[in-house]
Amino acid sequence: MELFEVKILELPKEEILHTIVTRIENEEKTFLVTANALIMLRAAKDDAYKSVIKSADYVVPDGFGIHLVGKIKLRRDIPRYPGIDMVKDLIEIGKNRNWKFYFLGAEEKVVNKMYEIYKDMINVVGYHHGYFTGDGPVEEIRSLKPDIIFVAMGAPKQEFWIWRNINKFEKGLFMGVGGSFDVLSGMKKRAPEWMVNMGLEWAYRFIQSPSKRWKVPFQITEFLFRALFYKGENKR
Ligand code: UDP
Repeated sequence: MELFEVKILELPKEEILHTIVTRIENEEKTFLVTANALIMLRAAKDDAYKSVIKSADYVVPDGFGIHLVGKIKLRRDIPRYPGIDMVKDLIEIGKNRNWKFYFLGAEEKVVNKMYEIYKDMINVVGYHHGYFTGDGPVEEIRSLKPDIIFVAMGAPKQEFWIWRNINKFEKGLFMGVGGSFDVLSGMKKRAPEWMVNMGLEWAYRFIQSPSKRWKVPFQITEFLFRALFYKGENKR
């Protein structure tokens, strides 16, 4: 699907995963965006961010909003692949392949916890919190040569960081994973499955921190309007 000039993948999640795994094995550098309504809305309104998203190798539909637009507008079932599920799948596969992982982002105590949880399961070569000045631990990551770099600094920060720095690395999957570390470390709860399936994950997160996320319901509404009235080519 093409939306706001961004090409969004329309493939079963197994196929997406297979493609990514093959690229990691071949040491092909990859920039992957997991797109939801808020990311797409920002891309529609901010040209700089749109160029960043368009420069990604893959834009995977993470959120229910994109699925809904596909259904109403194109009458197609665009399979969702939530970023946090892809993170879990890659960890599972990476276990047996001795891939090197680097965790970048979230608060220090959260990313420390991530390391503690995963260090015996997978090869975590390094980690760093996401509150740094400049571009942070780029040199360290360069020298460690990880196969996968999860960047958990929220949108748009994580995508801008990847876009600014990806050329400095020889290989690796660079993937923005939003608040995934908060959930995987056990610091925050993910929405229950029925809410995820009904497309209400945003509402669950909204209830968790309404003062921080008061704009979200308006942004989702704006995304739906803009997307439904968007006149693109809508090719697959
Ligand atoms: N975060 C970060 N650096 C920042 C801002 C945010 O590492 O400068 C982290 C934050 O601690 C959280 C994650 O980014 O773990 C996602 O933040 P948020 O929930 O605001 O973003 P979203 O998941 O909605 O993209």
